[in-house]
Amino acid sequence: TYNFCAGPAMLPVDVMKQAQEELINWQQHGCSVMEVSHRSPSFMAVAEKAEQDLRDLLQIPANYKVLFMHGGGRGQFSAVPLNLLSPTGQADYVISGSWSQAAAEEAAKFGRVQSLDIRQKQSDGLRTIQSPAEWSLSAQADYVHCCPNETVDGIEFVGLPHTEKPIIADLSSTILSRPIQISDYGLIYAGAQKNIGPSGLTLVIVRDDLLNTAHRTIPCIQDYRLTAQHDSMFNTPPTFAWYLAGLVFDWLKRQGGVATMAEKNQAKADLLYGYLDQSDFYRNDVAPEFRSWMNVPFFLADDGLNSRFVEQAEANGLLALKGHRSVGGMRASIYNAMPIEGVQALISFMQQFERSHG
Ligand code: PLP
Repeated sequence: TYNFCAGPAMLPVDVMKQAQEELINWQQHGCSVMEVSHRSPSFMAVAEKAEQDLRDLLQIPANYKVLFMHGGGRGQFSAVPLNLLSPTGQADYVISGSWSQAAAEEAAKFGRVQSLDIRQKQSDGLRTIQSPAEWSLSAQADYVHCCPNETVDGIEFVGLPHTEKPIIADLSSTILSRPIQISDYGLIYAGAQKNIGPSGLTLVIVRDDLLNTAHRTIPCIQDYRLTAQHDSMFNTPPTFAWYLAGLVFDWLKRQGGVATMAEKNQAKADLLYGYLDQSDFYRNDVAPEFRSWMNVPFFLADDGLNSRFVEQAEANGLLALKGHRSVGGMRASIYNAMPIEGVQALISFMQQFERSHG
C-alpha cells in the first residue's frame, strides 16, 4: 500500500521495520525505548544523536537552539506569541491558507495581530500568492509569521517576507523536503507527523537571542527559554517520538540528505502535476509556480464520482486520498517517505479510473 495521508503521514518503510525489530528489546535493555528513563545515558545518546543529525541535515548554525517540544503545530500557534509578542506590541501574520489563518487567530488571543492576506486569483481562476515585495508589513511588528507550505490548500511560496524583523515560519508540512537557509529565520517550528515522525513531538529551531524576549508569564512547557535551559527535558519529553524522529533523520542522511530529497520531491511533484495538467478528467487549481511539492489537491470533473474514486483507490492499496473537508475533492500528500513508485501507482490508478468512468 501507499499512504497519501496529510498527517499523520507515511513513514519510511526501513524506519518502521527497524522500530519494529527494536520495539520489545531495545539495545538489549530487555524493554522498549518507551520504557526507559529520558535521563538514562542510553536515551540521552539517542536524543543527542537525533539533534546532531538534524543539525547536520539542515546545517543549523551554532547560535540556534533545537527544541523537542510537545503540543503539535497548534501548540506553537500559542507558544510563538506567548514567547515573542510583547503585550503592548504587534505581530504581522501573512495569510496564505488555512493554517496561517488559524495561527493568526490564536495569536490574536495574546496581543495585537495584523493579518496580511496574500492570496489571489489569476484571471483564469488559478490560485496564486502576491510576491513578498507587495506584502505591507508594519515597521513596529515584533515578528512576521508565515506558513510557506499550506497543507490544506496545497499552495506554497519560496520567497520570504522582506523584513528585518524575525521571521517565524510554520514548516510543519515542508521541513526537510529541501534545503533551507536557517539564518533567514528567527524561529522555525514543525509538528512531527509529516516529515519527521509520530504526532505530538514538535520541533522548534530558534535563534538564541529570541530566548530572552518574553514579557509575560508563560506556561512552563511552552516556554522556549526554560525548554532550552533544560535541553528539552524540563518535563518528560515524548521519548518514543524523539527516538523515531532520530531514526528518520538517520534515514534521511543515508538517502543523501535534504538536497537529494529535494530532487526526489520535485520529480514526484512534476510527475503528478504533469499528469493532472494533461487530463480533462482531473484538475489542480493552483498556478504552477505556487504548487506544493508535498500536498497535491486535485478535483474530478464530476464531483459525484468522489466517493467511488476513494473506495476504488483504497481497494488498490492507495490510502487516504480524500481531500480536506474544507476543500473537497482529493489530496495526495507526497512527503519524503513516499517513493516515486507510489506516485506512479497513483497515476496508473487514475488513468484506469478515467478509462472506466470518463
Ligand atoms: N500547521 C500546518 C502547516 C499543518 O499542516 C498542521 C496540521 O496538519 C498544523 C499546523 C497543526 O498541527 P497539529 O495538528 O500538530 O497541531
